[in-house]
Amino acid sequence: MWSPFARTGSSARAAEAAIADLKSRAAHLQAILDSVPDAMIVIDDHGIIQSFSAAAERQFGWPAAEVIGRDVNMLMASPYRNDHYLTRYLTGGGQLAAPIGEPVSGQRRDGSTFPMELSAGVISSSDRHYFTGFVRDLTERQDSERRLQRVQAELAHVSRLSAMGEMAAALAHELNQPLTATASYLQGSLQLIEETPIREALLRTALTTANQQVLRAGAIIRRLREFVGKGESGRDTESLEKLLEEAGALAMIGAKDKGVRMTFDVQSDADLVLVDKVQIQQVAMNLMRNAIEAMAGCERRELTVSARQSGSETVTVSIADTGHGIAPEIIDRLFQPFVTSKSQGMGVGLSISRTIIEAHGGHIWAEARPSGGTIFNFTLRTITEEDWLDAAVI
Ligand code: ADP
Repeated sequence: MWSPFARTGSSARAAEAAIADLKSRAAHLQAILDSVPDAMIVIDDHGIIQSFSAAAERQFGWPAAEVIGRDVNMLMASPYRNDHYLTRYLTGGGQLAAPIGEPVSGQRRDGSTFPMELSAGVISSSDRHYFTGFVRDLTERQDSERRLQRVQAELAHVSRLSAMGEMAAALAHELNQPLTATASYLQGSLQLIEETPIREALLRTALTTANQQVLRAGAIIRRLREFVGKGESGRDTESLEKLLEEAGALAMIGAKDKGVRMTFDVQSDADLVLVDKVQIQQVAMNLMRNAIEAMAGCERRELTVSARQSGSETVTVSIADTGHGIAPEIIDRLFQPFVTSKSQGMGVGLSISRTIIEAHGGHIWAEARPSGGTIFNFTLRTITEEDWLDAAVI
């Protein structure tokens, strides 16, 4: 029997099935697109946003509903935002290169910016073109690179510390013998003085030998300082700012005191120096550590690292603290070995620092900071035009 209802019913079911199928495909497609880790943005040829993926919502902090229909350049940070960089990039098929050395930066809803990598594609539908942009947030990659650098820096620090430890052990061992000999000759001399008559010749021999042993101890220290001063590695052109910032990071990693504010101020035309990077970092690190220790317990804890051109070929690096200042009883012997005011101190840091700086043709000195605290300064040679010419000839 013919029934219009039966036919209507079956075509309605077919249509429903087709819609359900379409919906499920669309949902499937959406699920696939949502799983793409890069943000996907589709724009028309005027740069108006047509579609904004879930990853884009996460990356930029905007819900799709609030950006669809708006100009895509709202997602860029200046200066890219103003010159319609993103529209030009996407509609140009990704041909536009970022200015050399400058990462392209995007801007989130909260105004914060982040480095991003772009790629582009074109979709043609009927006779209209749409442009797809894939945006990768580079923050995470940069974070892991930074973490890696930190680990490497810590490793370098540990190996330097253990080298210092080994050196100190060797030094203690070598010095022990002449110092023990000196002590026993002096002890013997004291006994000889008590005798009457005094055996002058014997006393003279004992004191002369004691004197020789002290001179020997001095020679051992000098030899060690020469070893540290010459070092093994060569000199290279280095960026002073980078070198000091790395040393700062190392000094802060080791510092137990977290409340120190460290600032850097390196004059740009004094940036390039010809140095052994590891050695100069060791000096900077020593001075920074001393500064941090001198500020322990002080209310104001500010460490300022600055570098200024101080002659046609010289730069002066200054490390200023707001600490307790230098103890008056050691001020005249500050750079001599084994001079320390600390119960756990070895008193070799400043002496080694002086050797390194002098081996680089510079000098090092300390001064009281007028507003309280201490400033340690050292000079280095900057790279001159002549150095560049020499390098060019080679
Ligand atoms: P150490 O730190 O092992 O004592 P150093 O040679 O590095 O050896 O320093 C010698 C001494 O110089 C320190 O014990 C300290 O008394 C003094 N000193 C160094 N830097 C400072 C500073 N920034 N402020 C005050 N005193 C300092």
